[in-house]
Amino acid sequence: MNAQPRSQETPAQGAAARPAIIELAGVEKVYCSGGRRRARGVGFPALSGVDLAIGQGEMVAITGPSGSGKTTIINLIAGIDRPTAGTVTVNGSRLDQMTEEELAAWRGRTIGIVFQFFQLMPTLTATENVTLPLDLARLGPSRGRRARAGGHLAAVGLAEHGDRLPLELSGGEQQRVAIARAMACDPPVLLGDELTGNLDTGMARNMFGLLRALNGNGTTVVYVTHDQALAEMASRVVSVRDGLITGDTGGQS
Ligand code: ADP
Ligand code: MG
Repeated sequence: MNAQPRSQETPAQGAAARPAIIELAGVEKVYCSGGRRRARGVGFPALSGVDLAIGQGEMVAITGPSGSGKTTIINLIAGIDRPTAGTVTVNGSRLDQMTEEELAAWRGRTIGIVFQFFQLMPTLTATENVTLPLDLARLGPSRGRRARAGGHLAAVGLAEHGDRLPLELSGGEQQRVAIARAMACDPPVLLGDELTGNLDTGMARNMFGLLRALNGNGTTVVYVTHDQALAEMASRVVSVRDGLITGDTGGQS
């Protein structure tokens, strides 16, 4: 993790004064399910017109009932999925206009993502899991990557556990490896989906402290949570229901 602050701005202020690093405008997402050919426009509307601007350095929680569209929003910001209509702009790039190849390269530089079930490689050690994105991005000389990965593990309190396989780590420790892996390339944006779903309250708070520290260094953090208490620890809470934003403590308006 980058020890140097990215900017001189104080984190955790309202978005109004900051340039948007993430912007969804008129975003609709229709899933065509079943794998069969369907007429255009027929399918399940997961998002029905979402406008959301997130300022650089913000820490935003997205909350809402199951099936409301939270994961869809995260996947659109990560460029894992594409909108059916509308525009998605992240860190100055229009994702809806990029090819898959461009998106993959862009994602490696720009987005760190922590998945709900961590998705660590089971046959790789903690250090190897964190080294993987550095290798994929060919970041720095290959000799230095293990050391760099070790630094990221130390930043999440796992300096002594680098040689362990995921199964030799507790759930909370696995999640910290997932956070270290997400931050391996020092991306400007960290996304998390249901980060606390598999953690007890103590571990969840611990994880939240890590996110806050990263945000303090200038990383824009957006996380989905069912947990109202953890949502309220963010500087801004966006509520989603039935594919629409129904609440936003964002403070711009
Ligand atoms: P949340 O994360 O808030 O639980 P999602 O964004 O995962 O919600 O899903 C929103 C809606 O879209 C849900 O009704 C879900 O069933 C549907 N959905 C999500 N992914 C797909 C998919 N790949 N194919 C069809 N429907 C989907
Ligand atoms: Mg979800």
